[in-house]
Order: sequence, then C-alpha cells, then structure tokens
Amino acid sequence: MLMFQSPPPTRYDLRFTIADIPIRVHPLFWLITLLLGASGDILLLPIWLLVIFVSLLVHELGHALAFRRYGQRSHIVLHFAGGLTIPEPVTWGSGLANVSLSPNQQIFISIAGPGAGFLLAGLVIGIVILTGGSVLTTWLLGILPLPLTAVLPFDSRILNLLVTLLLWVNIFWGLVNLMPVFPLDGGQVARNVLIQYDPLDGVRKSLWLSVIAGGIIALVGLIFFRSIFMALLFGLLAFQSYQSLQGRAMGF
Ligand SMILES: [Zn+2]
Repeated sequence: MLMFQSPPPTRYDLRFTIADIPIRVHPLFWLITLLLGASGDILLLPIWLLVIFVSLLVHELGHALAFRRYGQRSHIVLHFAGGLTIPEPVTWGSGLANVSLSPNQQIFISIAGPGAGFLLAGLVIGIVILTGGSVLTTWLLGILPLPLTAVLPFDSRILNLLVTLLLWVNIFWGLVNLMPVFPLDGGQVARNVLIQYDPLDGVRKSLWLSVIAGGIIALVGLIFFRSIFMALLFGLLAFQSYQSLQGRAMGF
C-alpha cells in the first residue's frame, strides 16, 4: 500500500514464501496494526489483525504476481506503515539491474494490488451468497453503491464481523488506494499515464495532481466520513507531494 523504505531485518521477523515469493513480516507490523485496531471490544482485535494481515498480503501478492508476469522477481515486506513489494535486481552484464518495464506494464502492476483485493472481496461475496446470505449495498457519498455489509444466514457475531471487515478493507481501502495521490498505487498509475502524454513534464503534473487530489480527499474524509485518520493521512501525502515539487523546482 504505502511505499516507504523497507525496514532492516530483525531477529523477530516472520519469514515464509507463497508461490515462490519470499515474504517478511516486521514485528512492528503486528504492534502498529493492533494499536490502530484498538477499541473497547477485545473480541475485535484478533479479527482485525487477521483481516489486515490477509488483505495486505493478498494486495502485495497481486503486485508480486504482476511483476512475475513481466519476468521480474520480487519479495514482499509487511512493516509498520503497510506493505511493500520490492523488485529484485537481476544480473545484467557485469552488474545488477531491474527488468525495464514500459509505463503500461507499470500501470498493470500498480492496479494488480487493489485488483487482487477486489477479487478477494468478490470471492467472499460469492461465498456469502452461495451459503444463503446476502450483501447490503452502502451508498458512499450518496453516489457510489458499494457492497460493504454482509448478512450471514446464521447468527455468528464473529463471522459477521470478519466478513464485513474483509469487505470494507478490500473494497473501500482498495478504492482509496487508487486515488491519484503519491505514493499510493493510484499515484503511480497517474504518473505513468501522464508521462505517456507529456514525457518532459508528466512527473511534475502528476505531483500537482497529487497535491490537489490529496487536499480534496483530506477534506472529504473529514467532512463526510468524519475520519481524522483519512484527513491526516491525505493531508500529509498532499504536503509531501508539495515538498517534492519544491525540491524539483530547486533542482535536487
Ligand atoms: Zn499497492
């Protein structure tokens, strides 16, 4: 999701592989996710942790499998500010290099993360409906119908929480992640679209788009979703993009 630097390995890292893709989970991932999910309901915590872990993993696996499609190996790190899929350099002549990817291939890789989450949500909805349950539509901002609330055919508070949280995280945050703001996946998509139209100035335009869109989403988050978290996150990302613009103008 958020692309920051990969934290250095620790002895408490959890390591495993899925489909030959190495995965490392930094211990702070568990701690920060627990803190973000802290509420009065103790039952919610393990469900929250499981949903975030699975959803983030599926998201990053989407990126990693898309990389593989273009012959690029990668590994996944889950850390305190989300997840990263990091391409691995290949031996190239006498040195190391990354496989060179066209803008359209990079767009596919960026979309594959949220796309994998939407597929997971679709699978969950399919299972709910096949077992005789139903999924209620929530009208987001009054214009966007999203299937966010599961009604299971039997009375299980834990499963209801689990399924509804899975849908929210994968659908709602998947859409948020596609907003054209750096360093979200949507920001990478916008950059790769804009540099195709304007190779010289596309990156600068995508940073301005990131500043404006980030500012608008921070306001929408605050006013319509009453989410201080969204307001702070997008306010910070907009500010970061603005700083990158200033840096470019001064020629670093
Ligand atoms: Zn992503």
